[in-house]
Amino acid sequence: MILPYLGQSFKNLFSKPVTEAFPVGDAPKAAEGYRGRLHYDPELCINCGMCMRVCAPQAITREIVPLENGDQKITFTYDMTSCTFCRMCSDFCAKKAITLTDDYLIVGSAHEDFLVTGTFIKTAPPKPKFTPEQLEAMKKAAAAKKAAAAAAAGEAEKPEEKPAAEAAAKGEE
Ligand code: SF4
Ligand code: SF4
Repeated sequence: MILPYLGQSFKNLFSKPVTEAFPVGDAPKAAEGYRGRLHYDPELCINCGMCMRVCAPQAITREIVPLENGDQKITFTYDMTSCTFCRMCSDFCAKKAITLTDDYLIVGSAHEDFLVTGTFIKTAPPKPKFTPEQLEAMKKAAAAKKAAAAAAAGEAEKPEEKPAAEAAAKGEE
């Protein structure tokens, strides 16, 4: 029973492999619309988080590191070992910061080889010129000034009251 297999094995020793060699160098181009290696451009990213929300296998993570000056260091990581290459992240990214390239040669020997990462600094909004207490005091002062001006205007608009004595004298004439 083993003999037929032995014959085939012997034949295979001298025949060409049926598989194709891994295409290093001039690899054939992928078909149009192929969804391959992810590309992330942190320069375009606005940190909206939409890509994370639409990624079903949760292949996208974000790390936010607060810096001393109030800025934030933001790193997005796309893990291609969890990615299903559905392209939802790319379709939903309003800034087109993520694209799926036609690179299908996704090989590596460590987990890091399959991570696509990018970092950018989110600058903190400018600090307000005044403290809340100062703003409150300014508001109160402005309100008081407005009230005083309104009161002064009301006084000016009142018709002049003639003294009673003057009126009586006129009546005698
Ligand atoms: S990559 Fe796009 S969808 Fe994801 S956080 Fe950045 S801008 Fe938003
Ligand atoms: S292609 Fe799909 S699975 Fe891969 S990171 Fe984007 S949304 Fe997630």
